[in-house]
Amino acid sequence: MATFAIISDLHSNLEAVEAVFARIEALGVEDVVCLGDVVGYGADPLPVTLLVMKHCKWTIQGNHDWGMFHEMDDFNPLAREALMFTRQQLRPFFLRPRRRQAYEFLRGLPDRMADYGFNFYHGSPRDPVMEYVLKSDGFLEPEKMAQLFAHVEGPCFVGHTHWPGVHRPDYRFTQATDEESEFLIGGPCIVNVGSVGQPRDGDPRASFAVVRGDRVQIERVPYDFRRTQAKILAAGLHPALAERLARGK
Ligand code: ZN
Repeated sequence: MATFAIISDLHSNLEAVEAVFARIEALGVEDVVCLGDVVGYGADPLPVTLLVMKHCKWTIQGNHDWGMFHEMDDFNPLAREALMFTRQQLRPFFLRPRRRQAYEFLRGLPDRMADYGFNFYHGSPRDPVMEYVLKSDGFLEPEKMAQLFAHVEGPCFVGHTHWPGVHRPDYRFTQATDEESEFLIGGPCIVNVGSVGQPRDGDPRASFAVVRGDRVQIERVPYDFRRTQAKILAAGLHPALAERLARGK
């Protein structure tokens, strides 16, 4: 029975990442996998990428990781500005070998992974890096969900929306809450593990998942977001990127 943790959407938030790795260790879970968006938005792309390289069994590419190496036309202005900062922080420089290692690591990320009998994507099963599977898609976009579930044979895992919960083949989405945080993953379903570094479900605590056999538990971990906010402001990033961390939005 495989036991492993899934993290996603770290977004250069070192305090959240450290708190999550500490919780995973306290839970006694050895394997950790990462669904991407290691960087973007936050002030600490280098230390966060190095921690991921050290602790994660594998990592796949998120849209912000992709944006490090491509034209960013589709990114909103805040995301683009933060990626310009991230590129500066990680630009390879011969006196900074760890920067080059982090840069090459992000550049070489695969866009999907299969492991433990499951499939893993940052975004969606048919468009792994860019497409959002939104919690509202079940009732607003049933055709989209039908097309997505045509790609889903068993349980699969995504991030990207920063909303933890489970999409079922009947298109129902069950949001993970403190009252309902453990889910059976027997048949086809799309599990969103939420975001470590920038939750958007109104809960500022870092979100990640632990899979034990046919069950997945969404875990929430408080961290010192005031420290993260101060670093974002000190780095000259947009104040909205700091402010949202307190609201989990
Ligand atoms: Zn993200």
